[in-house]
Amino acid sequence: MEQVNQIGDEETPIFQISIGQTFKPYAWRASHHMDFQFECLYCDSESLKGYQVEDQYGNMGKIATCPDCERVNAKY
Ligand SMILES: [Zn+2]
Repeated sequence: MEQVNQIGDEETPIFQISIGQTFKPYAWRASHHMDFQFECLYCDSESLKGYQVEDQYGNMGKIATCPDCERVNAKY
């Protein structure tokens, strides 16, 4: 196993998902976590879905995505 050291960077990305990226739950090991009553940044949807996701390296993280346009609105 290779360790990645990012000294001096406290905002180390947990996994390779970017805000605004289209998120396909079926392409990830994603499990529904909770719903949010926030408006989507990219379309008119008024709710977001939070998923706990795991990337190919086993890193866990949570993201809020839009169920309509499937874009990532936030990480949390
Ligand atoms: Zn949307």
